[in-house]
Amino acid sequence: MEIVARRFDTAEPVTLAIAEGRIARIEPLPRKEGSDSLPWIAPGLIDVQVNGYGGQDFSAENLTVERVAEIAVSMDGFGVTRFCPTVTTQSFACMAHALATLHRACEEMPRLAYRMPGFHVEGPYLTAEDGARGAHPLAHVRPPDFDEFQQFQEVAGGRIRIFTMSVEFDGAADFVRRVAETGVVVAIGHTAATPEQIAAAVDAGARMATHLGNGSHAMLHRHRNYIWPQLADDRLMASLICDGFHLPPDVVKVFVRAKGVERCVLVSDLAGVAGLPPGRYQTDFCDVEILDSGKLVVAGQREALAGAGLPIGAGVANVMEFAGVGLADAVAMATANPARVLGLPPPRLEPGEPADLVLFDLDGGFRVRRTIVSGDERAA
Ligand SMILES: [Zn+2]
Repeated sequence: MEIVARRFDTAEPVTLAIAEGRIARIEPLPRKEGSDSLPWIAPGLIDVQVNGYGGQDFSAENLTVERVAEIAVSMDGFGVTRFCPTVTTQSFACMAHALATLHRACEEMPRLAYRMPGFHVEGPYLTAEDGARGAHPLAHVRPPDFDEFQQFQEVAGGRIRIFTMSVEFDGAADFVRRVAETGVVVAIGHTAATPEQIAAAVDAGARMATHLGNGSHAMLHRHRNYIWPQLADDRLMASLICDGFHLPPDVVKVFVRAKGVERCVLVSDLAGVAGLPPGRYQTDFCDVEILDSGKLVVAGQREALAGAGLPIGAGVANVMEFAGVGLADAVAMATANPARVLGLPPPRLEPGEPADLVLFDLDGGFRVRRTIVSGDERAA
């Protein structure tokens, strides 16, 4: 397979050849008239927070291996070649079913194991406080329990790679240390922690702030809150939902400037109802409404977000506009940086690298033309 496109990092027109699942050659083409209309080419996007798609939550009781496979195929439309299915707060039985089903999907289909290089568990050890808890059900949030965590990891076949929790609980730092020692990336999120508790958690090994600035109280003390210390500590990567609804553009700009491009990770945080037409939906979690704009709100409201409905590519386009970064940096936030969180080699557009690729236009947004996974063309 040969592809003619513009490199995302240098804007250079190239011919790229694929053989046996890898990039075989990349040859520069002379710039000429029409070069500017070539699609961009970049490594496939990596989204570390996908809760489901098309009406199916990964955390729902009715999850099956077939539905997992369908959601993975949906990611082809977004240029997402690898992602972390994200299991959120529910009863132990429900979360265990989700993790066991995801593990079985990976065992039965090697292709899925490749596309889902790790699971993300967000909850159930989150704050009970309204606002900061987000859409996580009050009935199921609870303090950390290391035995339960180990059971989650066991039914998941050891595939949990990111664990998002609040660090406001007694003994939280010790719990963070024990989880981090197992090689899992501990992320702070949906928290009511004090600045001291944040610092203790990072000292204990927490390494990411999950969707910084969301899953937060509507009102915070101007100085003593949990956002500044997460922003200031260079040991923490920060995941950001840049869909245009979750964070105002100026907040995105400040976060990116403070963290630096290399510590920012774009995520979609796609909800299970994402991809359905505008309207009202009853989920296992709450009643939600998808507005015409794609904004996902608690039914009957216009402001209370109930999850995200836009793919990670929207964040790539938005972060360029909001934070004034170039395409190479925006793509890094959705490829190299999430790869680093997951301990994967940084995806590069070089011969010998896996042919996980996205071709896209930046034409009023991130428009996917083609997605290629391990050298296989996927319908966009
Ligand atoms: Zn969340």
